[in-house]
Amino acid sequence: MERAARVAKVTPSVTLAITAKAKAMRAEGLDVCSFSAGEPNFPTPKHVVVAAQKALDEGKTRYGPAAGEPELRRAIATKLRTYNNVECQPENVIVTNGGKHSLYGLFMATLNAGDEVIIPAPYWVSYPEMVILADGEPVIVQTTAASGYKITPEQLRDAITPRTKFLVLNSPSNPTGQVYSHEEIRAIAQVVEETGIYVVSDEIYEKIIYGEKPCLSIAAASAAMAARTFISNGFAKAYSMTGWRLGYLAGPAAVIRDMATLQSHSTSNVCTFAQYGAIAALNESQDCVETMRLAFAERREAVLARIGEIDGLSCGVPGGAFYVFPDISKLGLGSVEFCDRLLNEHHVAAIPGAAFGADGNVRFSYATDMDTIMKGLDRLEKFVKSL
Ligand code: PMP
Ligand code: GLU
Repeated sequence: MERAARVAKVTPSVTLAITAKAKAMRAEGLDVCSFSAGEPNFPTPKHVVVAAQKALDEGKTRYGPAAGEPELRRAIATKLRTYNNVECQPENVIVTNGGKHSLYGLFMATLNAGDEVIIPAPYWVSYPEMVILADGEPVIVQTTAASGYKITPEQLRDAITPRTKFLVLNSPSNPTGQVYSHEEIRAIAQVVEETGIYVVSDEIYEKIIYGEKPCLSIAAASAAMAARTFISNGFAKAYSMTGWRLGYLAGPAAVIRDMATLQSHSTSNVCTFAQYGAIAALNESQDCVETMRLAFAERREAVLARIGEIDGLSCGVPGGAFYVFPDISKLGLGSVEFCDRLLNEHHVAAIPGAAFGADGNVRFSYATDMDTIMKGLDRLEKFVKSL
């Protein structure tokens, strides 16, 4: 059968592919240290599991509204108003199959052929592919270690054309871990307001930060920005709920309605009883988030100290998320070969920077236990020394 042209234009997710390969090697009995998927190794907090179990017992096993359970949409809108200072009502919120599908749904609901989406590189692997699947044109803007891998207002202004629809902003960033300061967010917002483009703000790592100040959502930078920003977020990272497939998009109500129309013909509602777990995650104590954040903070210190001891690698200090993104460009091989050899010869799984538009780097997720981290980094050192 002839393939659809649309699928021939994209490649499978490298992050998921390497994670699957590492798991398969483990299943064969190999001792693999995996720094691949951005997936917290903690169990989902007990009270969240209990809330979903209760929903099951109560028979919340039926179809629900395509845009999500009204109680969850209300809880998300309240969270955005109180935690993020963003004016938001339930009609501004749609519940989606993970943060991933909130972004996909947004692009499908808003892009026409030739619409441009500015994506600062290094970027999360799925952004350009989703834009392409929705007939848009990704416009990649290369950032540098010198600017902390953040797009500058000047770079943004230069990249904007009459076809520009969105800037994708991801802070804290996957893969670099970098966080835009409040001043940097405000400077970007000024260019957005002046030029009349829109922002997709992927805030899925907002709770996993190591500095003093909470993140500023660009939607809260000014009254005008609330109408120009689509916030994507989800429960996977902050609440260790990766397999639950629960995310959301918040933004202008007309687009939310269009996304709900698409969902009504494609996925229907997100698993009904799972949504009750998400309600508990938002409405009950946030101590679990802090406990996990503290564990990530400890691992981050350990990873940075250990990588700092390895000659030939240089690594920025991430302000958030659970990734380090060392520069390997002095070692004389590309990131794909580096990761292939590291996995096949030393049984350490990491993601080549090429997947994120940065072939001179490799991504290590430290959302794994300390023993794996230490053992894996010893093996990394041995590999780097052998080059
Ligand atoms: N955005 C970013 C930047 C991510 O890293 C991820 C997952 N790693 C997602 C969105 C999607 O997460 P999920 O679909 O699991 O909610
Ligand atoms: N997004 C996570 C990562 O970057 C999980 C894999 C994926 O969704 O692509 O590792």
